[in-house]
Amino acid sequence: MSTYRAYQVTGQRQFELVERDVVDPEPGHVRVRVLSCGVCHSDVISVEGMRPDPSVPVVPGHEIVGVVDEVGPGVTAWQPGDRVGLGFLGGHCGECMHCRRGDFVYCTNQPRPGSDTDGGYAEMVYARSSGLVRVPDGLESLETAPMLCAGITTFNALRKTGAREGALATLCR
Ligand SMILES: [Zn+2]
Ligand SMILES: [Zn+2]
Repeated sequence: MSTYRAYQVTGQRQFELVERDVVDPEPGHVRVRVLSCGVCHSDVISVEGMRPDPSVPVVPGHEIVGVVDEVGPGVTAWQPGDRVGLGFLGGHCGECMHCRRGDFVYCTNQPRPGSDTDGGYAEMVYARSSGLVRVPDGLESLETAPMLCAGITTFNALRKTGAREGALATLCR
């Protein structure tokens, strides 16, 4: 069985380079070969042990760009070779009350990569297929990774100002 390298953290700031087995993705999940992963302030949740049980190791990192390596049973939206991004919200369930109303961001059964599940400080990451976004050709993986969390936060704020493309200032409404 082949392995991949990952930096996991246990407790508070106890980083360790480990080898993990490469396994088949679960139903509805994909295995992604990580190309780049940003560093975000919210990594403190894992790095500083701000999780329900910090004694369980977790791989931090939730600004991930990679290439789909394998898809699990039931996954139809992605195929090996697709370049994808994975951020702080790791994929909605499609079944909870919020999902049934279309409020996927409030899904109550949504993993947070790098906190609840292993994230991108690794050569591989496993993700729920609904948590992935397609990364267009022409965007550099290294520059795109921070867009998956910090970037989308500032982008959404800018979008709500009503500023047009190329604008240097806008009036608050
Ligand atoms: Zn849900
Ligand atoms: Zn973040």
